[in-house]
Amino acid sequence: MGGTRPEPVPRFPGARRSLWLAYALILMAGLGAILVNLLQVLDSKELYLREADKANANLAYSIAQHAQESLKEADIVLSGLLALLERGENSPAAINELLQTYKQRASQLAGVFVYDAEGRWRFHTNAPPTPDASNSDRDYFQFHRQSVSRDTEVSNPIRSRSTGEWVLPVSRRFNDREGRFAGVVLATIRIDHFAEFYKQFDIGHDGSILIAMNNGTIIYRRPEQAGATGDSMAGGYLFQSDLKRAPVGLGASVSGLDGVDRVYAYRALDHFPLVVAVSLSRQEVLAEWGRKAAMVGALVAVLVLALILAGGGLVVRMRQRMVVAQSIARENRELSRLANRDSLTGISNRRQFDQSLQVEFRRAASAGTALALVMIDVDFFKAFNDRYGHQAGDVCLKAVGEVLRRFKVRASDTVARYGGEEFAVLLPHTDLAGARLVAERIRQAVYEQGLAHAGNPVGVVTVSVGVHSLVPQDIDHPDHLVELADAALYRAKSDGRNRVCLAEPMA
Ligand code: GH3
Ligand code: MG
Ligand code: MG
Repeated sequence: MGGTRPEPVPRFPGARRSLWLAYALILMAGLGAILVNLLQVLDSKELYLREADKANANLAYSIAQHAQESLKEADIVLSGLLALLERGENSPAAINELLQTYKQRASQLAGVFVYDAEGRWRFHTNAPPTPDASNSDRDYFQFHRQSVSRDTEVSNPIRSRSTGEWVLPVSRRFNDREGRFAGVVLATIRIDHFAEFYKQFDIGHDGSILIAMNNGTIIYRRPEQAGATGDSMAGGYLFQSDLKRAPVGLGASVSGLDGVDRVYAYRALDHFPLVVAVSLSRQEVLAEWGRKAAMVGALVAVLVLALILAGGGLVVRMRQRMVVAQSIARENRELSRLANRDSLTGISNRRQFDQSLQVEFRRAASAGTALALVMIDVDFFKAFNDRYGHQAGDVCLKAVGEVLRRFKVRASDTVARYGGEEFAVLLPHTDLAGARLVAERIRQAVYEQGLAHAGNPVGVVTVSVGVHSLVPQDIDHPDHLVELADAALYRAKSDGRNRVCLAEPMA
């Protein structure tokens, strides 16, 4: 019955789920923050590298233009000179003056020269090292002597014989009236011309700018420490792979010259056999990104830590509250259990009995089932107390309670101490015959215990029992059942005790 059944133990399954949910939320928020920032940081790294690529490509374009213009100007000088020589206008004074004008106008030019078919210096802006010097050993000279091509030739940088400085030779062949080789016109471009221009650009500490022949020979490289004018870098990735694939492009590699990891852009000149390349150190490109990433990382770490600490603290407090609530619930259960127990016998007390009676009476009424009540009273108990003492009386009551406890067969049965030396057994779903049987067994069991009682004619402790069972009707009241069972008990007493009596049918 509702009252005697153990109360459902509140385990707070919802609270436990909330705890896990809180843990999961904190974890997800933390991981989410880390993930979002990681993606953002990686994305911004790409952005920095893309910006570096763009800057490199722009600078490569501008440097290629500069080189192209310088070479074109030298080429124009050579064309003019060639036309003059082939027309046969060879007044030395006029030609020498023209050469000087060219040199002065075009600041990139180290010198302008005319060599005859034997390589002797015919006209020149700069004095020959010796009066009878010959340049027939120079590569460009031998090339033009052998090749009928009239095209402009740009050759590997050389050291000038007149000034000793590094120059880039730009040359053409000229013919005599019969079309035979008559000599070579040469304009040399100062390598410093490139150095001065490249100095203006901010390429960081480890960036580089390169202008080279497309055969890999360095014309000029900034910085100069690694790779000097005239050195070959034909074996490098730029010449071995990049330029073979496309005349313009982007790349990234660790330099074979100085071991610096760089991102670069390169470009082959349109009309000359030259190549330019511009690079920035990856470390320098990403330095600012690295600083920002570290800052963001530290910030995220602090936030996530704060989240974990605050969230964790909250969860711990939730947990503590849950534990307290659980222990309070446990204590409450224990208290209510104690409140319904009889302290002497351990069986249900009057309070519990009254509750159970109400509940079971209503239940029986609505289900239309029988409800039986067995009332038990110890015979001559006053005499027992008088003879053996009150404490022995208590022991006797305990013993009777122990016997009755055995008769609680079903969970819905209630065995209670009704008051003093009076007990009650409430039996749902039990008709009169069944209840009478139980009552008789109780009486028998108490008797068979054989507790000595000199004040009882039988010589042992006995009980008188009154029984009644009914199917509650609308007009019935629980008290009605008690009254009738009590009346039956009264009859058992008056009929001689140690017996079971049923209630008289009501008049
Ligand atoms: P009857 O056979 O007619 O029932 O006679 P009786 O003496 O048992 O009935 P009575 O009502 O005259 O006496 C009941 C006695 O039970 C009186 C009281 O002192 C005693 N009693 C009631 N509660 C307790 C208890 O908790 N402990 C003890 N030792 N005695 C109790
Ligand atoms: Mg009594
Ligand atoms: Mg009695």
